[in-house]
Amino acid sequence: MTKIAFFDTKPYDKVWFDHFSGDYQVEITYFESKLNHKTAPLANGYEVVCAFVNDTIDEQVIDDLYQGGVRLLAMRCAGYNNIDFKASFGKIHIVRVPAYSPYAVAEHAMALLLSLVRQTHHSYVRTREFNFSLNGLVGFDLHGKTIGVVGTGKIGRVFIDICKGFGMRVLAYDPYPNDSISVDYCSFDELCRESDIISLHCPLTEDSFHLVGRESIAKMKDGVVLINTSRGALVDSLALLEGIRSKKIGGAALDVYEEEAELFYEDRSTTILDDDILMLLISMPNVLVTSHQAFLTKEALQNIALTTLKSIESYAKGDVMEHEICYQCDTCNKVTGQRCF
Ligand code: NAD
Repeated sequence: MTKIAFFDTKPYDKVWFDHFSGDYQVEITYFESKLNHKTAPLANGYEVVCAFVNDTIDEQVIDDLYQGGVRLLAMRCAGYNNIDFKASFGKIHIVRVPAYSPYAVAEHAMALLLSLVRQTHHSYVRTREFNFSLNGLVGFDLHGKTIGVVGTGKIGRVFIDICKGFGMRVLAYDPYPNDSISVDYCSFDELCRESDIISLHCPLTEDSFHLVGRESIAKMKDGVVLINTSRGALVDSLALLEGIRSKKIGGAALDVYEEEAELFYEDRSTTILDDDILMLLISMPNVLVTSHQAFLTKEALQNIALTTLKSIESYAKGDVMEHEICYQCDTCNKVTGQRCF
C-alpha cells in the first residue's frame, strides 16, 4: 500500500478519490489544512503527498517533506507556480495533471463573460426581491466583437472555438504560436489595442507576471472587458482597480486573484477581510469574482482523481511517470525516456 498524505481536502475532492482508490494499492489520509511550513510535519512517514494550487511548496517545505520520507509530490492540478522545482530536484519527484478538462475552464470563462456583459448576476438578485426593473441592465452583443485570447494551449484553443461559435472575431497572442489553430495571431500590444474583450489562458511565469498592468491597460480600448481564469498574478490588481475606477476598463471577471491563497476555497463570510483591493473590486457593479471555480466540473474531478492515482501507481511500481515535471525537462533524464532524475 502506498501511503498518501492528501492536503487541503474539500468534500468534492474526496468523492472521486474515494470512488477510484479501491482499484489502486493506496491508503489516503485526508488533511483539511493546506500544506505549508506548519503542516508539512503531518506528512512524516508518508511516501506521497497530494497537494493543490494554493499550497505552499517552497524550499523549506520540500526539505521538511523529504526529511519525513516523502518522495513523490502529486499535484492534483495543471498549474505549478507554487512549487520550488530547483529545491525538489534530486529529492522529490513531481507529477501533475496537465489536462483534466479544458472544457471546464473554457466554458467557465464564457459563462463569466456572458454574465458580465448581460448582467445576469444583477438580474438574479433583483428578481429574487421581485424587482423586475431593467434599468441599468443594458448589455452588448458578443457577435461581431473582437476578443483577444492570450495563450492558445489546451484551454485557449477550446475557448477560441466557443468564441467563434458566437460569431466573434478572434485575435490571439502566444509566444509559441500553434500552426494547427485557425486564428489570427498578433503581438500582445496589437491584441491590447484591437480587442473589445481580453481573456487570459496562459501560465504564470516570470515573463507573464503582471502581464495586465498599468502599461498594457493604457494601450487597451476604452471600455475593454477583462476575463482571467488563469492565475491571479497575471493581473496587477491595483492597476485593474484603477482601470475600473477610471472607466478605462468596462468590466472584469476574475476566477483567480493574486492574493487568493488565504481566501479562496474558504468561507470567510463572518470575518473582516484585510484585503482592501479585493473588497473594492468585489464592490464594483461591473466586477464579477468566482473563487477559482473554473475547473470544478464532475468530469474534471473524475479525471483529476484518475490521473493522479495512475501517476502514483507508476511511481510505486518504479515505472516512468508520464506526467512528471522538473525545472529542466528539456535536458533531464526524461529526454532519454526515464524519470526526471
Ligand atoms: P497549456 O500549457 O496547454 O497552454 C498554455 C499556453 O500559454 C501555451 O500555448 C503557451 O505557449 C502559452 N504561453 C506561455 N507563456 C505565455 C505568455 N507569456 N503569454 C501568452 N501565452 C503564453 O495550459 P492550459 O491547460 O491551456 O492552461 C492555461 C492556464 O489555465 C494554466 O496555466 C493555469 O494557470 C490555468 N488554469 C486555471 C484553472 C482554474 O480553475 N481557474 C484550471 C486549470 C488551468
